[in-house]
Amino acid sequence: SGKFFVGGNWKCNGTKDSISKLVADLNSAALENDVDIVVAPPFIYIDQVKSSLVDRIDISAQNSWIGKGGAFTGEIRNRAPAYQTPLDGLRQRQIKDQLKTWLVHGAEQLIDIGCKWVILGHSERRHIIGEDDQFIGKKAAYALSQNLKVIACIGEKLDEREAGKTFDVCFQQLKGFADYVTSWENIVIAYEPVWAIGTGKVASPEQAQEVHAAIRDWLKKSVSTEVASETRIIYGGSVSGSNSADLAKKEDIDGFLVGGASLKGPEFATIVNSVT
Ligand code: 13P
Repeated sequence: SGKFFVGGNWKCNGTKDSISKLVADLNSAALENDVDIVVAPPFIYIDQVKSSLVDRIDISAQNSWIGKGGAFTGEIRNRAPAYQTPLDGLRQRQIKDQLKTWLVHGAEQLIDIGCKWVILGHSERRHIIGEDDQFIGKKAAYALSQNLKVIACIGEKLDEREAGKTFDVCFQQLKGFADYVTSWENIVIAYEPVWAIGTGKVASPEQAQEVHAAIRDWLKKSVSTEVASETRIIYGGSVSGSNSADLAKKEDIDGFLVGGASLKGPEFATIVNSVT
């Protein structure tokens, strides 16, 4: 369902130098045409990446604030001042077309610097930073309202899997998004079992497929048949150049969210090219 999607989540890694090398490697890589490719650098390097990376690859942020900006130290604003200023009728008419352009091209800080996507609900933010389902759902709704597309992450921890609660946990986290989001058109769901993230213990294609199919079924029952068939569900957790091809063969795996291996240009290209 939908175009194959591969995201590279660079997390809190990189320096100006290492990122300039990674960008050069991505720029010279041979990449399949029929794949949506997105990379998520740390905030402070987004501008560097945007100005040097080929347009073929879109840029994502790794987080965004719950609402419009202001006095929220350390957060990233979602809304431009021009947008918050109430306008009188005449002025509003005068700049109506301009406003439309700003809406699409530069209404907020992330879009202003060239981001099209934001990763929300990553397990590192859920379990290390302590973000909950409601907070994440609100962020997703706000980001979508500002024309940012959302990579919505969900996934169970090892003890939850071992207790047979994988589906319950995933459905609960999905509900957190569904409670706030009204349109799923600009959402990609990333299933990332926490036990597979950064551990080298990738889910088997069968394990991943089982959960992806269950997610699709949940979308069908809880949202709509259309959203279930059109939403891309990507897998993340120790994806590498050597395991991506087998995972990509599975019916409900529509792409990947790659951590560690996305910091190596040639290996990331191999993963992108594992589209089937
Ligand atoms: P790894 O690929 O390093 O396991 O990380 C996956 C991930 O968390 C992507 O968001």
